[in-house]
Amino acid sequence: MSICWNQYPGRAFLHNQWPRKSMRLSPYSPNPSTHHEMFLSSFSTFSPSLRLPVAVFKCIRSSFKTTLSFSSARACAAMASLSTVSTDKEADQELKYKEQAVSPQPQVAKRLEKFKTTIFTQMSNLAIKHGAINLGQGFPNFDGPDFVKDAAIQAIIAGNNQYARGYGVPVLNAAIAERFRKDSGIEVDPEKEVTITSGCTEAIAATILGLINPGDEVILFAPFYDSYEATLSMAGAKIKSITLCPPDFAVPLDVLNSVVTKETRAILINTPHNPTGKMLTKNELEFIANLSIENDVLVFTDEVYDKLAFAAEHISIASIPGMFERTVTMNSLGKTFSLTGWKIGWAIAPSHLTWGLRQAHAFLTFATSTPMQWAASVALRAPESYYEELRRDYNAKKAILVDGLKEVGFIVYPSSGTYFVVVDHTPFGFPDDISFCEHLIKEVGVVAIPTSVFYLNPEEGKNLVRFTFCKDEGTLKAAVERMKEKLKRK
Ligand code: GLN
Repeated sequence: MSICWNQYPGRAFLHNQWPRKSMRLSPYSPNPSTHHEMFLSSFSTFSPSLRLPVAVFKCIRSSFKTTLSFSSARACAAMASLSTVSTDKEADQELKYKEQAVSPQPQVAKRLEKFKTTIFTQMSNLAIKHGAINLGQGFPNFDGPDFVKDAAIQAIIAGNNQYARGYGVPVLNAAIAERFRKDSGIEVDPEKEVTITSGCTEAIAATILGLINPGDEVILFAPFYDSYEATLSMAGAKIKSITLCPPDFAVPLDVLNSVVTKETRAILINTPHNPTGKMLTKNELEFIANLSIENDVLVFTDEVYDKLAFAAEHISIASIPGMFERTVTMNSLGKTFSLTGWKIGWAIAPSHLTWGLRQAHAFLTFATSTPMQWAASVALRAPESYYEELRRDYNAKKAILVDGLKEVGFIVYPSSGTYFVVVDHTPFGFPDDISFCEHLIKEVGVVAIPTSVFYLNPEEGKNLVRFTFCKDEGTLKAAVERMKEKLKRK
């Protein structure tokens, strides 16, 4: 059990090392001299969007070499090309300048320097590259329901194609309010208390950027979804992280009690929890609620897996007496309707908090896709049987993966909700999650997510990896077979 503050020095390195093909370095002993090289390699391997600008830059540079001033290295290179080369040393120096000039340094603001490419993108790219079965990034490899796709097509044909109202198409605001009333018992005003965003990720960003000031203290539970830390960093928040430990990932209430003070501005929770599958218990939620009320703290709650609650009833913290007034509840369409690419999300909050998050939303995306919002309103009016069937299907998938992982020899931790399961890989003898995942991709042909990226201190996650079961049964069985055949206990 530990508490961490942000600015852990090893983390940026960890994010950088995946795309590197041949080099193996420990993420736990950063080596600054190779740091930049690895970062560049990650871009040249994985980012076609950067390759094009580099090519364009090279071309422009060759024609306007002396007039452009993209960086001081380039200016130096231009000067060097006019000077007379008299020694080997100078020739080497000139070569170095030229190399620097044709490979511009990737530029990023300090607040985002440590994050780089997300682990999900990196792992999905590696899955394609190595032909591995992707049980890493959480997206279904099957399609969403026809009645929702048909509704989107109809909305487009009907001409619902211009900007949506900034805070949402009215039918969707109403459908969300109705769904929330059924699920949590809370009556909300769809016009003043519901805001539609581009996925839950934007709801998180709008909430944090709209309600958190630089220097505000925000509490997170590690392991945490990667966008929380990045967005809090963009807002200039001071992050305090409380670690949830296996086997049950229970909230250490005494630690939480000592960490929440009058200085705390917000607590960010996620239930059911990605990556562990833990669902916060009623007792834990009430404890968080009491502390928040006592210390006048806001609660931001990410509930995107609420319809994938297997072992217990999902509880929205906003439904605890006294909590609605201080809570932003965030959710999305993607997981529940297997349409992660639609990016329809929302934030439900009392109007005094909605004010701040709408201010941020207005300048982040302004509005999100109009026809998809119409279709989302149809989706949310699905009969209860849709949700029951979803849970039944996922229970079957979960059993295939969990039983399979146990047979392979992992220590499998119980997952109560979400479509993820976290395991301890140490029976196979690898020193950390990164080296294990590397072996799993290259030698076994299966992709998992190393969890150390979800901690301020990566050491805390080095024994754990996450698998997803949002794939068809054939894919899950094939992945288990590969692991049974090729993974050997040490
Ligand atoms: N939520 C998805 C996961 O946890 C990933 C989404 C993303 O790639 N940003 O796997």
